[in-house]
Amino acid sequence: MSNKKNINDLSVLENLQNEGSHQSSPHRNPNEYNGETIDNQLVTSENPSNRKVYIESYGCQMNFSDSEIVASILSKEGFSTTTILEEADLVLVNTCSIREKAEQTVRKRLETFNAVKSKKPDMKVGVLGCMAERLKHQFLEEEKIVDMVVGPDAYKDLPSLVGKVDEGREAVNVILSKEETYGDIAPVRLGSNGVTAFVSITRGCDNMCTFCVVPFTRGRERSRDPESILKEVNDLWENGFKEITLLGQNVDSYLWYGGGLKKDFEKASKMQKATAVNFADLLTLVAEAQPNMRIRFSTSNPQDMTLDVIEVMAKYDNICKYIHLPVQSGSDRILKKMNRLHTREEYMRLIDNIRSIIPDCGISQDMIAGFPTETEEDHQDTLSLMEYVKYDFGFMFAYSERPGTLAGRKFEDDIPEEVKKRRLNEIIQMQQKHALYRTQSHVGKTEEVLIEGDSKKSDQHWMGRNSQNTVVVFEKEHYQIGDYVNVKIEDCTSATLLGKAVEYGAHQS
Ligand code: SAM
Repeated sequence: MSNKKNINDLSVLENLQNEGSHQSSPHRNPNEYNGETIDNQLVTSENPSNRKVYIESYGCQMNFSDSEIVASILSKEGFSTTTILEEADLVLVNTCSIREKAEQTVRKRLETFNAVKSKKPDMKVGVLGCMAERLKHQFLEEEKIVDMVVGPDAYKDLPSLVGKVDEGREAVNVILSKEETYGDIAPVRLGSNGVTAFVSITRGCDNMCTFCVVPFTRGRERSRDPESILKEVNDLWENGFKEITLLGQNVDSYLWYGGGLKKDFEKASKMQKATAVNFADLLTLVAEAQPNMRIRFSTSNPQDMTLDVIEVMAKYDNICKYIHLPVQSGSDRILKKMNRLHTREEYMRLIDNIRSIIPDCGISQDMIAGFPTETEEDHQDTLSLMEYVKYDFGFMFAYSERPGTLAGRKFEDDIPEEVKKRRLNEIIQMQQKHALYRTQSHVGKTEEVLIEGDSKKSDQHWMGRNSQNTVVVFEKEHYQIGDYVNVKIEDCTSATLLGKAVEYGAHQS
């Protein structure tokens, strides 16, 4: 089963609204899965003591990718994965702190786990990820609802933590690391369609956007060794995968100089500086290593995206022509208050550069409505920026104050909920209009699509994506999952392209 959700399905729309996020298309959200759970594929262990772990993941793609690392570490300890909660010996929930609603969802889920645990007292429950550091005391001491709390940089400590839990001792490790990238762990692909996979390239974030909790929950930014990235990509290709998404909070900031924090690069030796690998270099390496593998990446931060990266994208036809470029607001005053290190003008120039170098590039946004002090004029600036860019997709949120962030400490959350909601709705309406404008521009063209699986609405049709990340649905005929197919686009909704297969695509091997 796929872990993607379709906005055309009303129950899902409700889910998304409950989570406080609004997605304008059924395409993979580059940085949010909004409380959807991962579907574990059964991973069998060689250890005869075979215990079962059930893992649920919430939040960003990074969390989903981390759960695959966790499954890999635990499989060496004799754990196989299960999708049936009741049969698990160990239940892990990989958590997200990005908005208050995300945390509430996890806490509700923990109540369900505890109800199961009351009938199966040997079952242990662990909290992983971003909520671990923030709420460890509540979980362990006040509410006593979990047995183990593990932060995003401490997964290699899981074998010893599980041992402590087995002995009835408290098991906590939320220490953030300067070095850990899990480059040496081969992830166990969970809930995989066998076609697309995430490859993590950086961890942590140094941006310090005033609204964002990530630097506090995931620590400082560090990059993963390019050799280990290439090895993972080559292994995925060998195992039949056709598309990878290079993941990080801010991929354009990728910088490998032998290990260590990005902020310490200045202290690196001359030799380290001369041989450093940046994101444009990494993209080139990966694109050349597997010319028939599609390469995507997420997330790009406007202040770090260079012309070099855009030119590398244009040069290699296996790098997908799609950029997720969160802007958060169209107002210079609000951008400054958010500590986004670019202006509206600079962002628009970046968009112009992307469009002049890659005219058919798909572009998507993240937007926050109702940041502290946001006026109607600031909101109109956001709408006019959207009108300028006409994004293909969007992920839109009402501001949610996060404890510990600079905005949480220094700015009053002063925009009334109904005003936030109204502004958010206006942003969503505009995004839907632009999404339709963009999908209509594909009609009549023939585009290469990578088949990912059955269409949600019909098992007679395939669902795949074009290079711009738009979903394409077409009749199956003789084509198979994982095939590249040229599809003539005949019709569209604001979220989906409908077409007819013409022939195999150029990347079919
Ligand atoms: N690293 C990316 C960036 O800085 O653009 C994405 C970070 S975050 C995981 C994903 C999105 O959640 C953000 O782009 C932002 O739109 C939204 N977000 C983060 N903090 C938020 C908050 N306090 N309230 C509402 N939305 C928030």
